[in-house]
Amino acid sequence: MTHTASPFEVDRNGYFGRFGGAFIPEILQPCVKALADNYRRIIDSDDFRQEYDALLRDYVGRPSPLYLSPSLSAEAGCRVYLKREDLNHTGAHKINNAIGQILLARRMGRTRIVAETGAGQHGVATATVCALMHMPCTVYMGATDVARQRPNVEKMRLLGATVVPVESGNRTLKDACNEAIRDWCCHPEDTYYLIGSTMGPHPYPDLVARMQSVISREIRAQLLDKEGREEPDYLVACIGGGSNAAGTIFHFLDSKQVQIVLAEAGGMGADTPQTAATLTVGTEGVLHGSRTLVMQDGDGQVIEPYSISAGLDYPGIGPLHAHLAQTGRARALAITDDEALRAAYSLNRAEGILPALESAHALAALKKLTLKPTDVVVVTLSGRGDKDIDTYLAHAAEYA
Ligand SMILES: *Cc1c(COP(=O)(O)O)cnc(C)c1O
Repeated sequence: MTHTASPFEVDRNGYFGRFGGAFIPEILQPCVKALADNYRRIIDSDDFRQEYDALLRDYVGRPSPLYLSPSLSAEAGCRVYLKREDLNHTGAHKINNAIGQILLARRMGRTRIVAETGAGQHGVATATVCALMHMPCTVYMGATDVARQRPNVEKMRLLGATVVPVESGNRTLKDACNEAIRDWCCHPEDTYYLIGSTMGPHPYPDLVARMQSVISREIRAQLLDKEGREEPDYLVACIGGGSNAAGTIFHFLDSKQVQIVLAEAGGMGADTPQTAATLTVGTEGVLHGSRTLVMQDGDGQVIEPYSISAGLDYPGIGPLHAHLAQTGRARALAITDDEALRAAYSLNRAEGILPALESAHALAALKKLTLKPTDVVVVTLSGRGDKDIDTYLAHAAEYA
């Protein structure tokens, strides 16, 4: 592998420009250092690649299709492709990362997995790979989320995971992260903390981006086949912590002519308190182990985020994405609940594809771009909408 000194690659100290690093309790430093010192050697080894690629193919169902959408193409006046991560086993991109990290955990001699989850999607992906690998799994989840994401909690339990409702703080994702870290601190010898997005202390943001980078590797090959060129004019992805976006853009970061659009959750509007648009309204701070952009008040208190989409209401953002936005390499668009719902209903009716509410933000961002007839656009459909059926039904009168 040749070394490219890309301005978007993590540096030896774990930073993407000003963002990243590893701000962690003393007791975790040996665990995190062991991971940082070993992850590249392990995940780049032939032995790892063979097992990982075989599972992505035969268990997850990759490559995921790159589908030319007639209705989106007609509306945009150019060629719009959907990268169908919704067709993966367990219904989203999260399984790509969960499989990769559990293989890494095994190679590091760890025998027990802990994870945090908000909406429960990462919890389900983690419980799934733990069942596959016969490893015990504990998932921390805010008590509020346990109550409002019942089906995912039941799925995790069916898969054999222990789901621990967290009663501290606002009883949501950030409290679950804190508990997972506390558990890891108590069992640093045998436990692996399987993080679900491009967040947390170095090396997790880079590790998760690499586990998801299969998405952009496939896009290159599929575009070459369908368009005769590997590079699109635009890549569009929704962004919570940033993992499906990181996977979508990974192999295009140094291709300057490829424009990157990140669709974050505007909620009721980025100019209102009911938002999760961290790239638009966040300021520099430290959250969950890294320096990044954070939704916080003047005293540095984290502001509780809001979005109709449970997978996007995170008050931080991956350090890679903070760097991309700050340097102008990526453009952030805040998409409101209303815009996302409208885009979701429209794709469902036009093509029979019900997207996850998160992915609907990327579809809505497409409508804000000024496109030329020769443009080729790839929008990542990060997941399927089955899990959001109650929300869709609640808004049927307005949008159907
Ligand atoms: C979790 C999730 C997201 C948001 O997470 P990222 O790490 O930003 O990708 C987006 N879409 C779906 C379907 C999800 O499950």
